[in-house]
Amino acid sequence: MEVTLLGTGDTTGTPTVGCDCDTCTAARENGVERSRFSVHVRNERTDESLLVDVSPDFRRQFLDNDVALPDAALVTHIHFDHLDGLGNAFRLFSDLPVHAANETDPKTGESVADTVRGKYDYLDALSVHGQRPLETFEACGFDVTFVPVSHPPLVCYGVVIEGDGAKLAITGDTNYGIPDESRARLADADLLLADAIAPASFCEHHPLGGDHHDADGTPRTFGTKHMTREGALSLADELGATETRLVHVSHFFPADEAFAEPLAVDGEHYAL
Ligand SMILES: [Zn+2]
Ligand SMILES: [Zn+2]
Ligand SMILES: [Zn+2]
Repeated sequence: MEVTLLGTGDTTGTPTVGCDCDTCTAARENGVERSRFSVHVRNERTDESLLVDVSPDFRRQFLDNDVALPDAALVTHIHFDHLDGLGNAFRLFSDLPVHAANETDPKTGESVADTVRGKYDYLDALSVHGQRPLETFEACGFDVTFVPVSHPPLVCYGVVIEGDGAKLAITGDTNYGIPDESRARLADADLLLADAIAPASFCEHHPLGGDHHDADGTPRTFGTKHMTREGALSLADELGATETRLVHVSHFFPADEAFAEPLAVDGEHYAL
């Protein structure tokens, strides 16, 4: 399994358009980027590629990285930064299966699969396959499972991808309140990609502060939707992955922490 981190940033990305904070300035000066979230997973055995989330930065990501266009895609939830690149399928694909969860979101009255189907109904190349959370299905020769996470107010899913003895676990966009059954599925991966949008110290700037505080009072959730760096590291400790990279990273990290380990940047490559 070959894993390429195409997009490691949050919704605004780093550098953020129009932002001259120290972190965005350092990113520009060093030619480092965190575009909107997407992960490319190649199956060496079948020579197929699976794309996890379809970033609005799809075009630039595939120009910048030496990876094949995907044979199938997954969509974890319907936020812009994970879904809205799907329009790039126009004229690039004659057939692209897209897998997404099929359980109804009480907030929208439809499943992620329904929303993707409705929104991209004009693209004949797409076929949307609804998948039941926690039930494993096959894509690109991999065993793939959507696991429910916690990203209010929308439903959202982490992803477990297994094949040939390798295991990749992706938390998806989530706060620290991931259900136990999903934690069990995400455990013991060779590589864990965990949402860590901001340092815990930045919660004081969020209108809702933080949540899921640890014994020392450190918030493991930033606002309501994402994990703090400290929350992601605490989760990583519990899940026991061989290697952990923090993703969905915002420009709210101070410049001297924003590019420190284990925060990922675009273009990282892992062979599992
Ligand atoms: Zn900035
Ligand atoms: Zn989201
Ligand atoms: Zn997101």
